[in-house]
Amino acid sequence: MKAVAVFPGKHEVRVIDHPEPKIETPTQAKMRMLEVGVCGTDREIISFEYGTPPAGYDYLILGHESLAEVVETGSQVTKVKPGDLVVMTVRRPCPHPDCLACRAGRQDFCFTGDFTERGIKQQHGYMTEFVIEDEPYLAPVPRELRDVGVLVEPLTIAEKSLEQLWHIQQRLPWACPVEPGQPRAACHRAVVLGAGPVGLLGAMALRIAGFHVTVYSLSPTHQQDNPIVSAIGARYVAAETHSVDDLAQIAGPIDVVYEAVGASKVAFDVIQRLGPNGVFIFTGVPGRKGTMEVDTDYIMQDVVLKNQVILGSVNSPPHCFEAAIRDLGAFEKQWPNVVRSLITARYPIEQALQPLSNHAGGIKNVVQVAS
Ligand code: BGC
Repeated sequence: MKAVAVFPGKHEVRVIDHPEPKIETPTQAKMRMLEVGVCGTDREIISFEYGTPPAGYDYLILGHESLAEVVETGSQVTKVKPGDLVVMTVRRPCPHPDCLACRAGRQDFCFTGDFTERGIKQQHGYMTEFVIEDEPYLAPVPRELRDVGVLVEPLTIAEKSLEQLWHIQQRLPWACPVEPGQPRAACHRAVVLGAGPVGLLGAMALRIAGFHVTVYSLSPTHQQDNPIVSAIGARYVAAETHSVDDLAQIAGPIDVVYEAVGASKVAFDVIQRLGPNGVFIFTGVPGRKGTMEVDTDYIMQDVVLKNQVILGSVNSPPHCFEAAIRDLGAFEKQWPNVVRSLITARYPIEQALQPLSNHAGGIKNVVQVAS
């Protein structure tokens, strides 16, 4: 079967022929891949900055943003049946008995670093025709979400971040007040850094969760507004024409920053505008661009005197995939057609190298393996 593979040793990326996998245990299911999203991590892997093939292979099959159809199930699988749509999670636990997180199914918090990740670290990914996966790592997707299901994985980044945020803010009175007989009104202000797929899906999740949202971003065409941001009732502030001080003035006291831009310069500028009791959530992994000057005394003073939290968040557990599937449904109801406009183009697997290159442009490009 066809697969898109990266050969780190040879510095090559190409479509290869890879043996079709078979179910080997009663808890496994076999999936026919439908779509695989392309993201910044894939681009880093094909630039050979990141990515490790599984033991015994000199190549890694790419792809971790999945949407697939179940074609066969092992005798003990009960969660899905042939014909069901599923998204598969990314990270698998490390083998160490003393890793509290992995032993509890929370490999997103693995202590040892010996976890594996499909399409990224020591496990083949989903950019191929068929895959085998164990039942706990399958998240069923309703048919109505067929067109947008490939966005579940990038949305899980926001789902885990939001869950962490609610946990953290239990440290203080944080629930917005309710007027008798009225729905709870929004009282918290969130700033999203970056208007790529992770940023826009994060902005949608924050809007649905009741935040006032401001998205701060550069854009390839230097636009002053962003139709997706306005459609979800958020405000767009163009970083080309607005300084971080302008952003702070427009957004008001910032309760939450959701960083989805992977650029440390702007992130550390915005940290200095975080409001009292605010939480700054980092989700981007920047490339190394050298050192820069940051006013560390100012940041440390603020973190202490304003009770702030700086949080990093990576990967997502299965229940955040379920939350993302529910939220995608909610987005589709609230803003019909907006979610699907995040998908810029679909490319057949033979042409997968096009969206993987930096020149493809657009918001989210997808490799269509089957229809
Ligand atoms: C994926 C995560 C993964 C991370 C680091 C991201 O692109 O969405 O699941 O943990 O890369 O490898």
